[in-house]
Amino acid sequence: MAKLRVLQVSAEVDGLAKTGGLGDAAMALSRGLARAGCEVLLVTARYGPTRVPPGVERWPATVPVQLGQRREVGVLEWDAEPGLRVCLVEDDGLYGRVGLYGDTHGPFGDNALRFATLSKAALAIATRRFGATPDVVHGHDWHAALAILYARDDLPAASTVFTIHNLAHQGVFDPSLLWQLGVPPALYRLDVLEEHGGVNLMKGAITMAHAVTTVSPRYAHEIRTPEGGFGLDGHLRYHQEKLVGIVNGIDGAGPRDREGLPLAYDANAVVEGKSAAKTIVSRELGLDLETPRPLFGTVGRFAEQKGIDVFLRIVPGLVERGANVALVGTGDRHLEELAKDVAARFPGRVAVRIAFDSGLAKRMYAASDFFLVPSRFEPCGLTQMYAMQFGAIPVVSRTGGLIDTVSPIDTTAQTGTGFFAEPGDAASLLLACEDAFTLYRDPRSLVRARARAMAQDHSWTKSVGEYQALYAGLRAR
Ligand code: ADP
Repeated sequence: MAKLRVLQVSAEVDGLAKTGGLGDAAMALSRGLARAGCEVLLVTARYGPTRVPPGVERWPATVPVQLGQRREVGVLEWDAEPGLRVCLVEDDGLYGRVGLYGDTHGPFGDNALRFATLSKAALAIATRRFGATPDVVHGHDWHAALAILYARDDLPAASTVFTIHNLAHQGVFDPSLLWQLGVPPALYRLDVLEEHGGVNLMKGAITMAHAVTTVSPRYAHEIRTPEGGFGLDGHLRYHQEKLVGIVNGIDGAGPRDREGLPLAYDANAVVEGKSAAKTIVSRELGLDLETPRPLFGTVGRFAEQKGIDVFLRIVPGLVERGANVALVGTGDRHLEELAKDVAARFPGRVAVRIAFDSGLAKRMYAASDFFLVPSRFEPCGLTQMYAMQFGAIPVVSRTGGLIDTVSPIDTTAQTGTGFFAEPGDAASLLLACEDAFTLYRDPRSLVRARARAMAQDHSWTKSVGEYQALYAGLRAR
């Protein structure tokens, strides 16, 4: 039987350019599908900071992209592995800037055109590369929403799948931009693109896609409620027949991979492995090592969503109870400043590193005894899964994918992998951390909890199978 030809369109790809979990998911899903026998083409943009992999080849000719105006874009092609090619759309005027989505002044003013061009180019590249219409066009988040809309006209035989990685970012623009995006004016109506007088690209993709997925079953439920729907809950309830939650996995380097770590470790050597990592990270971040202390860490975007402010509110309480604390991330300027202020009050006990550094992120997962993910909402979340792989016990908010990937610890029954707090509630977070201190003081239970966390299977295998089944169902339509 011919291989299923799948086009994936994503603004981020792990290893090339990413700001968060979207890049991890797009790459891991593409890789998983390729290994499962699909022919996968993943299309993204080439930004200023993109790491262009060795062995990339430039297409000899540019590709025309006809929106309101016609542009010519370059294409770089990377043969990533058998069954998986990655194409980077090159247009310095649109993408050759320091950020993926914006700079210190905020989002770029031409983001609608930038990602419309990516979406349109992706369809043209796929048709050329496959030498045929792709069987499936799969767009990720609002940046690829227009790939779904364009495909309905340009590639009517293709099945379309749209994945919501984060409903908080919907791609909302002024209707005056519609001509520029090459979208038929007829689609600017309440059941497709119009929302409160603006153009809402995510809404349009939800309407037009044959199937809509999101990144955990719990989030699939939450986005249909007024609390979690960011104004689109009614729209999602209307389309709920085609909505499904498929949890993200993690793949790639685990604790056995020594890269960036002082010592590789597995569940049997977690005490030694963690203590070596803790020493390295504490030196690196300037944390006191004289007294053995539990390390409470986090890695992630400093954004309102992630509850960094809630974490910072309990830092004095954690220090008072004997912990060292480390936060690594970048994001909103005011949260970065707030974090630095808190750290300055507790030299040697609290460290903040404002950086996007994958090596340090991995050392943090390895070094932390407890890993906090106090998100206000969390579609899936990956860091809690990475942390568990390294035997760091997650302390997370009771929301979204965190509920689907962490289970509550019961030290009597010796079950569960983490502790839960109510989202946005500092008192509840401190209470959950008190449970973590209790566990820390009980080494036998701690070792067993770490072993359970490390034994969790968060691989992509099962989820790739669910996506394949979804594609097959659409083809059979
Ligand atoms: P989100 O996509 O909402 O930012 P996720 O938990 O889904 O959150 O994914 C975050 C991804 O980004 C993980 O792979 C994490 O390791 C990575 N990451 C986030 N912040 C940093 C950072 N400061 N340095 C290195 N990696 C980071």
